Amino acid sequence: RAKEAGRGRIEVFDDRLRAELAERSALENGLARAIENDELVLHYQPIVGLRTGEVEGYEALVRWQRPGHGLLLPGAFLPVAERSDLICELDAWVLREACRQLAVWRAADPATDLVVSVNLSRRHVARARVVEDVALALAAAGLEPRRLVLEVTEDALAEDLTAIGHLAEIRELGVRISMDDFGTGYNSLARLEHLPVDEVKIDRSFLTGTGASDRLLRLVVQAAHAFDLAVVAEGVERPEQLDTLRAIDCEAAQGYLLGRPEVAGRAQSRVAELGNRPSTVDASMATRS
Ligand code: C2E
Ligand code: MG
Ligand code: MG
Ligand code: MG
Repeated sequence: RAKEAGRGRIEVFDDRLRAELAERSALENGLARAIENDELVLHYQPIVGLRTGEVEGYEALVRWQRPGHGLLLPGAFLPVAERSDLICELDAWVLREACRQLAVWRAADPATDLVVSVNLSRRHVARARVVEDVALALAAAGLEPRRLVLEVTEDALAEDLTAIGHLAEIRELGVRISMDDFGTGYNSLARLEHLPVDEVKIDRSFLTGTGASDRLLRLVVQAAHAFDLAVVAEGVERPEQLDTLRAIDCEAAQGYLLGRPEVAGRAQSRVAELGNRPSTVDASMATRS
């Protein structure tokens, strides 16, 4: 009897495994066609200057409107894309679309002094084509290189001299490089000095709001400033976190408190709304979001 029950379990397991494999390959095939089928969408989340209260730029975050499955977040499909060079196609599309969108915003209002941040995956940064993908996206949109920020995670750069070389080339164009999720990987602060980086985005795990982590946060901000790097804090959800960031002289922040990722049209009306008015990042704004 025990043996039979065991066999039953194996069959159930087999079925589940088969279903999972089928789903995974359906996902992979669907994703490969998502670009040509126009199923990818960018949402834009504001990055707000803490001294001015103004929106300084937007991070473009990819979503997939997958037929029959609704709107998928990156966590549901990027790991699949990252298993092959498909991720390079996806990143290149995001680059073109984000540059195009910023050019549209600026055409509508030339006084709009915004930048757009785009995430690049580790695999893409390791490929020589990344330099051309960036240059082509800028040229197609007619966007000045200084209006583009590329976000790469620490692990994309760790020990990879080829990838570091590509970023250095891109930076020569005038594009800014930002180290994403800073503090979660293995780059020591000291290594930052030797990397082609202009900015760090402090991972939201640093914003726990306990006394000990506030002291750590202050140290990281000070160290970044000592290397002439700009600092953006990620994942700000509560007003007290904003107070802490201001107190330790962090210059910019991003998070649900300041604005959720949203489609281009809504992101644009937010700029129109907050645009050049000082001190918009205060309690009144906190209650609004
Ligand atoms: P990331 O670059 O660190 O982006 C920030 C993530 O945190 C986004 O998740 C954003 O929606 C979320 N977030 C923003 N504010 C808050 C907050 O206050 N609280 C919390 N809990 N979360 C917040 P999302 O959009 O799901 O993206 C996840 C990751 O996927 C990104 O992390 C980035 O690494 C990657 N990604 C997104 N778009 C692209 C892309 O176009 N290409 C590549 N290669 N990677 C992308
Ligand atoms: Mg990012
Ligand atoms: Mg991040
Ligand atoms: Mg993150």
